[in-house]
Amino acid sequence: MTGPATRPLLFLDVDGPLNPYAAKPTRRPEGYQTHRMLLASMAQPHRPSYHRRRPLRVWLNPDHGPSLLALPYDLVWATTWTDEANEWIAPRLGLPELPVVQWPRPRQDGPGGVFWKTATLVEWAAGRPFAWVDDDVTDADVAWVAAHHGGPALVHRVDPKHGLRAGDFAALASWAGVMS
Ligand SMILES: [Mg+2]
Repeated sequence: MTGPATRPLLFLDVDGPLNPYAAKPTRRPEGYQTHRMLLASMAQPHRPSYHRRRPLRVWLNPDHGPSLLALPYDLVWATTWTDEANEWIAPRLGLPELPVVQWPRPRQDGPGGVFWKTATLVEWAAGRPFAWVDDDVTDADVAWVAAHHGGPALVHRVDPKHGLRAGDFAALASWAGVMS
């Protein structure tokens, strides 16, 4: 058994893994429900969505909440939704309020195409084992994490056409099993 203090973190992106935004717009992926969300942050002039006041269409799969909670990880939001993930996403998936990673500005990718989220997540983990699901990670992030993170890590890309699928959950469960 893995005790609470030693469970790895699971950094969760929203758009891609939970909201398969790249799926064919005319066909909602199987198992998903459509939500329309008008976020408070969309009314802030510095946001790209400021001039687009229409609600966001978000697809969510209600099975994802229980499946994530069944994994032996401590879940953490690692998304540009930041605190709005707790407000808009967590309740619709049956997730509790989760810790939220806050991002520095500007959001600029690092040398060699390292994703702008990567260094912040490594810092947040502070040596603790972590897995990270995101649609925007590449081999550059895998290499950067390997070079800079003091503990084990799994950087796992999720296809934004499909969102998290059984194979992704299996990979996460399997990696956590190796960690315990
Ligand atoms: Mg994403």
